[in-house]
Amino acid sequence: MVNANNEHPGQDPIGWRFDNTYSRLPDTFFAPAKPATAKEPRLAILNRQLANQLGLNLNGVSPEAAAALFSGQDLPNGSNPIAQAYAGHQFGGFTMLGDGRAILLGEHRSPNGDLVDIQFKGAGRTAFSRGGDGYAALGPMLREYIISEAMFALGIPTTRSLAVVTTGETVYRQTRLQGAILTRVAASHIRVGTFEYVAARGDETNLRVLADYTINRHYPELADSPHKYLEFFRAVLDRQAALIARWQLVGFIHGVMNTDNMAISGETIDYGPCAFMNTYRADTVFSSIDHAGRYAYRNQPAIAQWNLARFGETLIPLIDPEQETAIGIATEALGEYPALYQEYWLDGMRAKLGLQTSEPDDLDLVQSLLTWMEKSKADFTNTFRDLSADELPTKDQYSGPDFREWHANWQKRFSRESRPITLVKAGMRLVNPAIIPRNHRVEEALAAAEDHDDLSALHRLLEVLVKPNEVGADAAMYEEPPSDNGSYRTFCGT
Ligand code: AMP
Ligand code: MG
Repeated sequence: MVNANNEHPGQDPIGWRFDNTYSRLPDTFFAPAKPATAKEPRLAILNRQLANQLGLNLNGVSPEAAAALFSGQDLPNGSNPIAQAYAGHQFGGFTMLGDGRAILLGEHRSPNGDLVDIQFKGAGRTAFSRGGDGYAALGPMLREYIISEAMFALGIPTTRSLAVVTTGETVYRQTRLQGAILTRVAASHIRVGTFEYVAARGDETNLRVLADYTINRHYPELADSPHKYLEFFRAVLDRQAALIARWQLVGFIHGVMNTDNMAISGETIDYGPCAFMNTYRADTVFSSIDHAGRYAYRNQPAIAQWNLARFGETLIPLIDPEQETAIGIATEALGEYPALYQEYWLDGMRAKLGLQTSEPDDLDLVQSLLTWMEKSKADFTNTFRDLSADELPTKDQYSGPDFREWHANWQKRFSRESRPITLVKAGMRLVNPAIIPRNHRVEEALAAAEDHDDLSALHRLLEVLVKPNEVGADAAMYEEPPSDNGSYRTFCGT
């Protein structure tokens, strides 16, 4: 490995290249923050593949030094820790929030030129902590690590996880838990809630500052557009429509789609009570606090639109000086969202069923498969994977008349595509994952890590999750759905 120091004199030995653009924004957007002292930081897991991608050379760094680095005891050269201000609609109610347990170290420039946020989650109290302790527990931080890396492997836009360190501090929840810090890498942490924060303060000057900053960072192609704020709104609608469609197509349930957990970059952000659906049920909810099922699987597209309506409201003063005109324009743009989403989703479903052309009856074909899946309690992931096999596996559930009829219709449909069936099936296997983070496998890996300091199950799980379309030797145990699908509950990772 080349020593960056010798190669480019004056460079940081690890390869950090911070350019802290967010902390050069006006003071109203953040408060200075300092990671808390950690008694005994220990590295739990480090994502070396991601480190390499970011141009970070951690090979010569000892585990102790890495633990000090990823717990904020030794801050990277050029970082400038802050907590970001934001607001949010949580389960529909508006609140002023801000990073209560997250600290942004700044933005690092990757070798490919991307500017990415480096953030510690669980690094102690900030100006926005309100009643909270600013800490996070090991289980939830490892959970975010697993699910975010699985989402990345599935090709879904997401924040990434670079490291988890245990702090040696005790965190008090219902029980005593080990404190931990996750190092999160994101395109940015600008949220719908960041816009709601400035808008709620009636600060039009800073609203424009934030919009221009975000456009330059995430939608630079719009910077010179004559109607750039409207185009910005449309572009965010488009990315969210695409993102939520991707979630639906793999059965990912975010669990807490508050506006502060919706990133303007279009990445999936804030993995709390999220989980993947097993048996197909459109009303599936895993989160223990989501009593009304607001964030159920079937509601995700509509909730995204609700959040985007809140986003559009913040942009009204920028879209047109005449409020009525601006509202009319924004409402029209928002009205295009359902069709936009539906197109992404249906295109994705066609691909899952091996279809490259489109026909008017495709929606019916998809809907009738989903109806059958719901009725026969079929596993969402495994059904699509079974359909992707060269020969449909012999299973009881595929022997009934409803399924046989659907299957015959499907076969008729792709016979009109005039592609060899082997090619169709090979293509399907590329879009229908065999492996998703099954809830019981995730829980098993977390329990071993939390209770016995044993990360071997977690590493084995990650090994299969990063190649979701491959069926390796021990794939069967990771493909099998849990037996208690209906009763699984997730908790907010605080
Ligand atoms: P989340 O559920 O992680 O999206 O967090 C929602 C809000 O609560 C954010 O403003 C967090 O910063 C804040 N928060 C969550 N947990 C804590 C904690 N332990 N201490 C302080 N603030 C917290
Ligand atoms: Mg959040």
